[in-house]
Amino acid sequence: MSERTFNFSAGPAALPVPVLEKIRDEMLVLPGAGASILEISHRSKPFEAIIAAAEANLRSLLSIPDEYAVLFLQGGSRLQFSMIPMNLAPGGASADYLITGTWGKSALDEAKKIGPARVAYSSAESNFDRLPTPDQLDLDPNAAYLHYTCNETIQGVQFATEPKTGDVPLVCDASSDFLHRPLTIGHYGLLYACAQKNAGPAGVTVVIIDKKLLERSADNLPGYLNYKIHADNDSLWNTPPTFAIYVLKLVTDWLKDDIGGLDKMYQQNKTKAEMLYEVLDAYPAFYQGHAQPACRSLMNVTFRLPSDDLTAKFLAEAKEHNLADLKGHRSVGGIRASIYNAMPVEGVVTLRNFMDKFANANA
Ligand code: PMP
Repeated sequence: MSERTFNFSAGPAALPVPVLEKIRDEMLVLPGAGASILEISHRSKPFEAIIAAAEANLRSLLSIPDEYAVLFLQGGSRLQFSMIPMNLAPGGASADYLITGTWGKSALDEAKKIGPARVAYSSAESNFDRLPTPDQLDLDPNAAYLHYTCNETIQGVQFATEPKTGDVPLVCDASSDFLHRPLTIGHYGLLYACAQKNAGPAGVTVVIIDKKLLERSADNLPGYLNYKIHADNDSLWNTPPTFAIYVLKLVTDWLKDDIGGLDKMYQQNKTKAEMLYEVLDAYPAFYQGHAQPACRSLMNVTFRLPSDDLTAKFLAEAKEHNLADLKGHRSVGGIRASIYNAMPVEGVVTLRNFMDKFANANA
């Protein structure tokens, strides 16, 4: 296949075309380096400039205060499921978890291997189709932290704003909506995201952490698992994922220079998501949205069709329209359209028009 499809993959996911073109153009010789980004030392001047620019871009896009460290780690978000309790809940302290989907549940399961972890809310009974109202939160005021997943990638439910936790540090898995809108970083104790959905390729995970919390990292933790060691060494304690950080730098350049910042990105994301939810609402008996309307995700639009046969037909015909990777996760079924930052409006318009025609022909 030589044509690029509209790629609705949940992750690794579509990257902006100008970023891919730049990677291609610089692949043999990174300007000023005399070699490929794949061939230079993480301690070389050109790479030092790249990692510094990646951090500066994140700090500028998200207005990250100086009181926060920005770390570039490996191991994906799943390693964070373990590092968070290891570092932030030392000495058997208990942590709270909001479970609004598959990933929050996985984070809880990993935390329980490290120490006590409580469920402060769960929507498991309704197959994770909703979010808590403030009065439904059963918070422990002495919790070491409260962990939640701001966008559940599989179910397609998303918090529009952060839950209120009082003095308990808020820990957020932002893997699947990182950089989709501006944030007030001061609300968080720690926010993390693997890059392969909205920020770059697989291989790097960004951790933004309040420096006060670094004091909790015990000296006897294994070195790689200790946030303080990474912060003290500017993410260069060991060899970082140099190529992934380079691509993240290019993606954040694109967000700043081509898109014009996260306010603009957010407007575009809302416009794209609205187009798809409008079609769901126009054919409610045919396209059954998984998420309750009040907590629909701007990133992952999830819905079912009336039968498995129609779902298979939808996927096959979508492919003929250049619309790829729309199959939903098996735990939810149906269709999932992941429309991260890099999905062009044109791709969403093509999907919306296809959905409209498909419903008219098959409802
Ligand atoms: N959290 C969320 C919300 C995710 O979507 C994913 C990946 N799909 C993960 C965690 C796990 O990330 P990784 O595969 O990088 O460990």
